[in-house]
Parts: sequence; C-alpha cells; structure tokens
Amino acid sequence: MLIVQKYGGSSVADAERVLHVAKNIMKTKAAGNDVVVVLSAQGKTTDGLIAKAQEINPKASRREMDMLLVTGEQQSVALMAMAINSLGGRAISLNGAQVGIETTNAYSDARIRKIHAERIENELERGNIVLVTGFQGVNGHGDMTTLGRGGSDTSAVALAAALNADVCEIYTDVEGVYTADPRVVKDAQKLDEISYDEMLELASLGAKVLHCRSVEVAKKYNVKLLVLSSMVEAPGTEVKEGSNMERMLVSGIAADKNVARISLIGINDEPGKAFEVFELMAKEKVSVDIILQSTSRDGKQDISFTIGKQDLDIAKAALEKHKKRLTVSEVQYDEHVAKLSAVGAGMATNPGVASAFFEAMYDVGVNIQMISTSEIKITLLIAEEDVDTAMVAVHDKFKNKSVSMRKD
Ligand code: ASP
Ligand code: MG
Repeated sequence: MLIVQKYGGSSVADAERVLHVAKNIMKTKAAGNDVVVVLSAQGKTTDGLIAKAQEINPKASRREMDMLLVTGEQQSVALMAMAINSLGGRAISLNGAQVGIETTNAYSDARIRKIHAERIENELERGNIVLVTGFQGVNGHGDMTTLGRGGSDTSAVALAAALNADVCEIYTDVEGVYTADPRVVKDAQKLDEISYDEMLELASLGAKVLHCRSVEVAKKYNVKLLVLSSMVEAPGTEVKEGSNMERMLVSGIAADKNVARISLIGINDEPGKAFEVFELMAKEKVSVDIILQSTSRDGKQDISFTIGKQDLDIAKAALEKHKKRLTVSEVQYDEHVAKLSAVGAGMATNPGVASAFFEAMYDVGVNIQMISTSEIKITLLIAEEDVDTAMVAVHDKFKNKSVSMRKD
C-alpha cells in the first residue's frame, strides 16, 4: 500500500514527540508500505515566526512572510529525517519546491495547481520514507508560497491524490472527529465516520480538526481520509462519500469565534441598496457570511451581516466613508459574537432539529441574533461569551431527545 500520513504541529512539538512519531512512521514502513509523510511546523512555531515579523515590520509583504513561514515546516521535516535515520530507518526530507508542488501566485493564500510526483516516486523506489513540508509550494515566479493557516492538511490530501495513495491518514492531538469540541463538551462522542459534505460544513463552520480545503480536495479526488490520534492507537474517524442509508440527523456541533457583526440601520427601502452595500464589501475583498434584512418601516430598513474579525477594520472604514451614499443612518458593530452550528445530512427532512436547537438556546437563556440554514446545517449567531454554554446545551438536547447523534 502507499500511505500518506500527516502529523500536525502538536504531534511533533518537541524531540520526544518527534521520536515517537518517527517510530510510528517506521512501523508503517516495516509493515511493507510505501510511506510519504507531511509535517506541520513544530508546536506554535508558525505563530512565533509571525510574532517575530510583527516586531520588525507589521506591514511586511506577503512574499517575505511566506519566505519566513515556510522555514517552520522545513525544520520539522529535517528533524524528522534525522530522527528516523538515527533509529536505523531511511528517510529523506523535501520542501515544496524540491517536490514540485506548483501553486497559484497568491502569497499567503496560494492554491495547489499541480504536484509533480516523479521525485517522490523515485525516492520511494529507492526505499526511502519521504518527508514533505506541509502548507507550502512554489509559484509561477519560482517563489515559495504558503496555502493559508492550517494548510498542511491540504498538502497531505493533495499529495495523496497526486500519488494515487491508498489512504491519507491525518494524525492529530484528538482521536478523530467528534460530535462537538471535546474540550468544551465533556461527553462529546467520536464519530466512526462522516461524509465529505458534513465534514466540509463542520470545517468551514469552525471545527478545527481539518482544513476546509483538504476536505474539498478529498471529495473531488475521492481520497480515503482517516483522522487519527498520534498519541493513542485507536480507530479514528473515516471521512468518505455519504451513503443515504447511514446519514446522521446531526453529526456535529461547531463553533466559530472569529466573527464580527455589522448592522446598517435605517437604510432607504429601495432597489439597489443591498447591491451597493455588498458591492462595497466585495471591492474591499471582505467576505460576507450570514445576511439578514429586516422588513421595512416608514420606508426604512436594516441590513445586518457577519464577516471575519480580521476584516472588521477595513469594513468599518469603507462603510463610514460611504454612509451618506448608502443612506445609512447608523452603523453598529459587534465583534463579541460567535457562530454556533449544527450539521447533519439527515436534517433536511426533519423539522424537529431546528426547534430542538432553538429550545436548547431558550433553556440556557441565550439570545439568538441571527439564523441561517442550508440543507444540512443550521447556524445561529449568538454572543461570544455564551458560546460554550450554548454548545453544551445543544449537544445535550440532541443527545437526550435522541433525534440525532445517531443514524436515522
Ligand atoms: N504551520 C502552519 C500553521 O500553523 C500550517 C499547518 O500547521 O497546517 O498554520
Ligand atoms: Mg491543523
């Protein structure tokens, strides 16, 4: 078998963990497999590098930021090669350019365009374990690029697709994908399996276990994806094409605190106003998530929407500048909000899910500011300080009502 494994930053945080992971990798190899391993930077290395840059130049160019950040993953693969070699194995480390991971030009948020498999295949043929830096590639200018925070998962899945690997194993510090964040919800359960679509929603709604784009790539190329613990030997969670027979009513609850709400009060109720507001946001490259428009009162209406916290300053400046033209009488901001979402493929056909969710919020006295739904998810915008209590409450509700967290 050809196996691609990915170990996250916490799994390779120090020498002891590196040696532990080295043994795990060698065991896989000794079982007769070809092994390609993708590593993240150790522990909080990437945060540390960003902080270093901030000290020197808070407005550093994205090109130089990428040049700096790619070094974190290079440390990991080189150290891992040394660990494996010291234990009597044979490993070689390669960075994104050496492998030939071609990306788009966009520094700090590049997309993989193509992966050249030859170098890796040659090394595997020579009997080497191949260690590849996560989160990076090389663009059309021959410069190093990064794929965005958390991008090593995407590197691993893309490599698995390019090499036609039998499985892509993502090793992390939890035992798999849970029904809710196990650090917040004590009786959260590990899922044996979850569909690509559900995992995509959970990842984009704030579950941190997998980079959203890695799930997109896995779905597109039908990569068999396993999420496992690097510390304990346990079966983990398989992410795969969902079958109708086994769809979950609710497979998981996710929270995202990286949210800010903007409310535009008293806009003229006439055609074109929503267009003007969101055209302005698009021009500023601010992506907008939940949108809510009130009914009109005396020819005026309110429009509220959410954005990522990092975009709040840009959005604020643009809205204040164009307030008059947009006929907004008041702009309100709230950065202490969070999204709480329930995801499940079986939800679409079961109206009880939404009401159980709302009832759970009522039980713990949490006010709902905005609601957004799709076929397989319900998202509520609530105060950030309420999000942990609310997550426990909704998880309990679904469990006790037994409308969910189980197959329908
Ligand atoms: N080291 C990068 C980060 O911290 C990429 C990753 O870990 O996936 O975001
Ligand atoms: Mg990660």
